[in-house]
Amino acid sequence: MGDHHLFLKPWGGIRAEDWYDWKWQFKNSLRTVAPGAVEIDGSPWLHKELLSVTETYPFRVTPYYLALMDLSDQTDPLRRQCFPDPQEIHFSLGGVDDPLGEQCDMPVPGLIHRYADRCLIMATNVCAMYCRHCNRKRLWGRGPFAGTQAYLQPMFDYIRGKKEIREVILSGGDPLTLSDRSLAWMLASLRSIPQVEVLRIGSRIPVVMPMRITPTFCKMLRKYRPLWFNTQFNHPREITPAAARACEMLLEAGIPVSNQSVLLRGVNDSYGVMQELLYSLQRISVRPYYLFQCDPVRGTDHFRVDLWKGLEIMEKLWRNISGLCMPRYVVDLPGGKGKAPLQSFSFLSANNMNSSEHFFDKNC
Ligand code: SF4
Repeated sequence: MGDHHLFLKPWGGIRAEDWYDWKWQFKNSLRTVAPGAVEIDGSPWLHKELLSVTETYPFRVTPYYLALMDLSDQTDPLRRQCFPDPQEIHFSLGGVDDPLGEQCDMPVPGLIHRYADRCLIMATNVCAMYCRHCNRKRLWGRGPFAGTQAYLQPMFDYIRGKKEIREVILSGGDPLTLSDRSLAWMLASLRSIPQVEVLRIGSRIPVVMPMRITPTFCKMLRKYRPLWFNTQFNHPREITPAAARACEMLLEAGIPVSNQSVLLRGVNDSYGVMQELLYSLQRISVRPYYLFQCDPVRGTDHFRVDLWKGLEIMEKLWRNISGLCMPRYVVDLPGGKGKAPLQSFSFLSANNMNSSEHFFDKNC
């Protein structure tokens, strides 16, 4: 899809300089599904249902991302990721708000320290888009908190006192909803801690608001290397020229970009879609890193894919596509027990292992 196409819907007539200005995109994000704000299937009943969902789980989507989807199609994989669904409220199989026990691993509010050598900072709970499958959707309704010094300084003090922490992940919410100035201050503060060797940013911005990746921002980031950038493309249609350019700019600044997809029912739970996603990521030099099993978070049951189906897709991918395209399929174990890789061993039968053909294949 060429970028010019994005002007055609749903905000025809917007000036190009506005469309490509991330502050305009952020400010003009759609935040209500009320009739008049957005036309979805023309049904007043549906509007009412969806509005009631947003009282529990807020709604927000950028004009850019909205322009990529077919609003009239409830099964559109991009629409599914951002539009509220009554199933978030009415179809709960016993999920909990925080199944990974993040709140229990917080020695300081907003800082998760689960693994000895690294920790994660929730810099803000604001995102450019609220993804309906998010494992931190419990934080959206709490009122916004953003990266103020009063909020972050206790985290930096904690990290300074923990000599074993060598890697810090800036996450959220989405940290790239904060200004360049705030982010530069955070990164400089972390860099001033002697034992912190590596910084990582987790952000969906290249997917949902790629114009946020500006030359000035990349120049600033470059100063704080080694710095790794993890994003979350879940569907090949999200890889637009604008998104590709955002990733390219990060790469040109010397920032490796990796992708962490979530396996989502009705979005990417088929071999064909997953293959196209992985090929498309490789085309833009983004490394497929993880494929996450969707966590058992309250309000996300309708997205969860059966583990065996996930393994089946992975097995077929292993058989057919290059290892360079392959992410690791992982599940985050409940109760803060960490990540566990999932692997199908059905193709490792004794027969296969003993076959000379197998070794030939490998060596050639
Ligand atoms: S951008 Fe990330 S943190 Fe924000 S809603 Fe989406 S998945 Fe959750």
